[in-house]
Amino acid sequence: MKKRVAVIGAGLCGSVLSTLLRNDFQVTVIEQGKKKKPLFDDVDCPTGELNTSINRAQGLGGTTNYWHNALIELDDHDLAKAGIPQGGLAAYYDQAWSFFLSPTELEDCNRARNANKVSLERGQCTVAHMVLPQTRHNVWKLANARHPGDAITVVYGHAERIVPGADGGPGYVEVRGERGVERVEADHFVLAAGGLATPVLLAQSLGQPDAFCAGYHDHPMAYVAKIRLKPGSRLKAISSTATRAADVRAGLVYEDANLKTVVYLRPAIDLRLGSISGPARYILSDLRNDPFSPKKIMMLLGNLEAVREAILFKTRLGYRGDYYSILILGEQTPLPTRGVQLAKGKRPTLNWHVTPDELRAYSASVDRFFAEFAGDILEKQLLPVPSWEFRNAAHHSGTANQFVASPGDTFTSDGLAFFAATQLPHTVVCDGSLLRAAGIANSGLTLVALSYRLAELMRSNA
Ligand SMILES: Cc1cc2nc3c(=O)[nH]c(=O)nc-3n(C[C@H](O)[C@H](O)[C@H](O)COP(=O)(O)OP(=O)(O)OC[C@H]3O[C@@H](n4cnc5c(N)ncnc54)[C@H](O)[C@@H]3O)c2cc1C
Repeated sequence: MKKRVAVIGAGLCGSVLSTLLRNDFQVTVIEQGKKKKPLFDDVDCPTGELNTSINRAQGLGGTTNYWHNALIELDDHDLAKAGIPQGGLAAYYDQAWSFFLSPTELEDCNRARNANKVSLERGQCTVAHMVLPQTRHNVWKLANARHPGDAITVVYGHAERIVPGADGGPGYVEVRGERGVERVEADHFVLAAGGLATPVLLAQSLGQPDAFCAGYHDHPMAYVAKIRLKPGSRLKAISSTATRAADVRAGLVYEDANLKTVVYLRPAIDLRLGSISGPARYILSDLRNDPFSPKKIMMLLGNLEAVREAILFKTRLGYRGDYYSILILGEQTPLPTRGVQLAKGKRPTLNWHVTPDELRAYSASVDRFFAEFAGDILEKQLLPVPSWEFRNAAHHSGTANQFVASPGDTFTSDGLAFFAATQLPHTVVCDGSLLRAAGIANSGLTLVALSYRLAELMRSNA
């Protein structure tokens, strides 16, 4: 008889993993939401701007119901910070790319990337190669299409606690659903509830209702300036290259104090700063996911310049013009003071603040960008550094650090140890919470690569 696996969370990692495991295990997925819905009120966030827009979601597919599926690899330096040796993920990245794109589509994208590298990479910066497929994928649907097979049972309800089996017997997950609390029995548990929910579940399973789950990191973003480029500047074409299957964006990456900052150019109408400051600065993308919010519609009407610039960006027309906004994303490292605080009977609280040291590093990188491309930039308007308004970029990472083994060589020597929850037998973690570093990359592609790696290890031990 097949062993039973309970996968908690049907988001990005849970969807990929459960479909990869379906033929070797009897798979049950526990998903809190029956319908796709943004999660606006499950975490408090005094740091701000976490619950004002869609930042996580529930339902089959999880947050990928609303994501952009921009795909980008971590470089070797980022991977080393995450405890993954050079080349350790290469074969799994290949699988992750094939999950989203066909070989010819990928070839097109790589061609655009290589052209950008030749045109831009110099002593000072490297190029971040981000691929945005034209189709926004709900990963539950995509994973089931890519990996069909035996039936997967879906149980709807909120997983509250894992109780691993003792003396070789099965364990169970306590799930609160419409009919009260039920037990879902399993031999193995895969936690894929996302970077904010998985640490809560781990702490609750270990009897730590007031735990502080440290190590949170993301790559917060902020608009910092507007510029006017020389008509022939190469920065225009490389910022957005359309291929048949995807848009390839190049960002310029600078490093200061061991922290990366990536600089992206977004089309603008002129040098006025109103469209990149205040609450309306991301309004069109906020509205796309949440179109009936009267508050957001009012905000939009109050900043028509931001609307016009967003349209220039979405239609890519703006990349022919001379005016651009500068959007930066800054790397964060895991800190003992940044993370998810549990409090018995209350909602967990997230603190994702940007530290003064991080701000200094981002600002130094922006200065280097301006110095390096001074010949391309005819005019600029800067927002003063203290008024940079950071927004969380929704790549909730690193919060399971204290519950899993230190990475060291666990990725290669004893593969499962990399994913294992150290104090919960038969339990592995695979989602944003496991990722100790991500540089300035959107982490989705890496999470899919890690899911392929974990599924391979689990199948070989089935
Ligand atoms: C608007 C937006 C755009 C984004 N764009 C990109 C992008 O372009 N590229 C990229 O790489 N990333 C992007 N991201 C981030 C990306 O979507 C997430 O990093 C990714 O979905 C994380 O995957 P996950 O498996 O960790 O969690 P999720 O996909 O969030 O899945 C977690 C699942 O677990 C469920 N769950 C949580 N707690 C419980 C519980 N206790 N019991 C049962 N179920 C539970 C949730 O309902 C959810 O379905 C974006 C995010 C947002 C919000």
